[in-house]
Order: sequence, then C-alpha cells, then structure tokens
Amino acid sequence: MWPYYPELIERPVPRYTSYPTAAEFTDDVGAVAQAAALEAIAPHEPISLYVHIPYCQEICWYCGCNTGAANRSGRITTYLDALDEEIHLLGRHLGGRGRVTRIAFGGGSPNAVSPLAFVRLLDRIITEFDAAGAEISIELDPRSLDDAWFDVLRDTRVTRASLGVQTLTPHIQQAIGRVQPLAMIERAVDRLRAAGISSLNFDLMYGLPHQHLADLGETLAASLQLAPDRIALFGYAHLPTLIPRQRRIDTGALPNSHRRFEQAAHGYKVLTGAGYRAIGFDHFARPSEPLAIAAAERRLHRNFQGFTDDPSEVLLGIGASAISHFPGLIVQNEKMAGRYRMLVGAHQLAGRRGVERHEDDRWRGRVIESLLCSGEARMTEDRLSRVRHALEPYVDKGLVRCGPTYVRLMPAGLPYARAIAGCFDHYRIFSKGLFSHAV
Ligand code: SF4
Repeated sequence: MWPYYPELIERPVPRYTSYPTAAEFTDDVGAVAQAAALEAIAPHEPISLYVHIPYCQEICWYCGCNTGAANRSGRITTYLDALDEEIHLLGRHLGGRGRVTRIAFGGGSPNAVSPLAFVRLLDRIITEFDAAGAEISIELDPRSLDDAWFDVLRDTRVTRASLGVQTLTPHIQQAIGRVQPLAMIERAVDRLRAAGISSLNFDLMYGLPHQHLADLGETLAASLQLAPDRIALFGYAHLPTLIPRQRRIDTGALPNSHRRFEQAAHGYKVLTGAGYRAIGFDHFARPSEPLAIAAAERRLHRNFQGFTDDPSEVLLGIGASAISHFPGLIVQNEKMAGRYRMLVGAHQLAGRRGVERHEDDRWRGRVIESLLCSGEARMTEDRLSRVRHALEPYVDKGLVRCGPTYVRLMPAGLPYARAIAGCFDHYRIFSKGLFSHAV
C-alpha cells in the first residue's frame, strides 16, 4: 500500500511535539525567562495545564518516560507536597490572569498516587487557578487501577482517559515487561465507560520484540472489539544507550526496519478500514471524535501530548521534567524529582532548561506542525527556496508536491511525514541523531 524507500527514513528524526525540540534546550534558559513568560500572560488567555506524575507501580522495560517505581509511599507524598508548592508558585506569578481550559494528568502513571491524593491535587489546582469547567484528561495504567479510581474519576468529572494497552499478545507482553491480560483491559474499559469517560484512547505499539504482523493484527482486532474512541499506534523506539531499562529487551528479537514499516502500514489499513480516521501519522479517531472533527476542519495542533484539538498557545507543565510552552519560549522543569522538590520548596520556579523561540523558529515550527497535522504547509517563496534541495528526494519519489509557496504530502508520503517535516528543521543538520526511527 505504501511504497518503501528505506534510504528516506533511515535517519532518526524527532517526533516534533515542539519546535525547536528538546534536543535544542540549553541551561541558558530557565526560571528567569519562565517568570517573564508567565507575567506576559493576558487576563483571560486560555491556558492548558499538564501535571506530571513520575511514578508507576511497575516499570515497563520499553518505557522512555521520566518515571520511577512507586515503591515508597513517602516518596510520593513528598512529591505531591512539591506539586502543591509549584501550583501555588505558578498561581502567584499569574496573579489571577489566564483561564485554564484543559488539565491533563500524565506521567508515569497518574494512578500511581492514591485516588484521595488525586482529588486533593485537583482541588488545589481549581483553588489556585481560574479552572472551573476545564476539561480533564488522565493517562491510566490498567495494572494499578483499583475500584476506588472509577468512583473518583466520575466524581471529579474526568471525561478523557488514555489506557496503556501496547500489545495483547502474551509472549510479547513478557518480552517487554508489561503483563496485563485482556480481561484486565476489558474490565477497565467497562468501568471507565460507566464512570462517564466519553473519550477513551488506547496506546498501542508496533516494532516490539518477537512481534509479527499476525500478532499486531490480533491486538488490533481485540482492541476494536472494545471500541476505543481513539487509538495511538506508536513505533517502539529502541535506544538502550540512552534508556538503560531498555537493555532488558532482546535487541535480536526486534523487527527490522522493513518489518516495522509493514506493521505501520498494516495498522493504518486495519484501523482506517474499521472506520477510524487517520490523524497525522500515528493517531486514529472515530469520525465523531473532537480530534477527528478538528482534523477535518484543519484545527488540529501538535503539542507535548501528541496530536490535539487544543488551540491554547500556553501550556504550563507542572512537576519534575514537565515542559511549558509559551509563544516565545519553551522551558523544562528540573528533571530530577529530588532537586525539583528542593527548588519549589525554596519557592523558586522549577524551569531549568529551555529555548527561546525566535521568528525563524516560529515560522519553521508553524510549517512543521501544519505538515504533520494537515499534510500541507504554506510559506513565502523565499522560505521554501531555502529547503527545496532537502525536499528533492521526496519530490522525486512522488511523496510530496511543491508549488511556489506550498508543500503538500501525497497519500504515499504519510509514513515519511516526520522525515519530510525534518527538512524544515534548521537544527537537524547539527543533530547527533539521538531520535527514534521515522517509522
Ligand atoms: S506504565 Fe507507562 S509510564 Fe509507567 S513504566 Fe509503563 S510505559 Fe512507562
């Protein structure tokens, strides 16, 4: 279905959840710039919040997230106290400005904390910010989702949830250190629906050890039976030198890049064949889902959580390693939970690394986002002329079409979208390639 040109996807590329990407963050940008950006927020400007919980009950071997084992309750309690401090600090810097329209809890696993602690955290946010009526979403690990969580999700009016499913093939679950039987997922789905979750996402993966097309096909079929509203189908990024826990995964059992490509293509075919609309290069949504409607109306965006219908230009990241995004600045909080606690405990903003977004970054960022979200980007002739040579191999293969002031992905170009978007990445020519495969 998709033509395979290995030479066009062999170079690792960022996922472009921001531009510039985290690879461009430096220590020169931190709390001072963060404070200035917070103070520039207008009185009723829409703000999205992302709250990071860097703990999980069990650590999966493939995981690239900033998370650790939730094996000591004292560790979580002190972290929650630090979140409280940071929320208070941010509230003070905002001084009543800004209106929170969305709150996303991610990690890690937000359900590594107790349901009661989650209620207190949410209360704190609503007290400190103008957040009444905000849409609330949460990432959930089905392995640690006890009964009390469903009551709390209903009572706190959480409407969106994302379940880490990854694969339903038992021997692959063993090979990635994440064992969760289908019955566990079925129970979670039933209870989440009963608790009022109207938008349910499944995270699935291809490119896993020992995974064959038939395994992926069975996981997709079983997932479709459970009718999630969205599915994100990610390729596993094996980077064991950067992510030591991945050394437990047998490199020799991983599918090669051609097999990965086939798996991505198979996922696309099965999910679109089942009536889901392809959103960008790795998300799928039912046509009635807000994400699919936003894509159809060309209102799709890309932020640190992937494809989104969230139009806010300001995203405040709360918690260790959380990233905040402002029109002219991207800043990441201190990554280490211990140092993060010390900073906010001393009433200091936690921003430690980041990058200022200058005019050149902004237009390139707009083009990259537009290409990934809608498959087309417009720009001046002069700007397009600067990247024409990099686009040539993709144009020659018919994967992309270039006019005088536009670039358009052709249907066969979808799996090459990140690589094509990368042609507009000014920094990529200097990068050391510590990113994932484009497919
Ligand atoms: S539950 Fe999610 S965040 Fe936690 S280790 Fe597994 S993949 Fe990573």
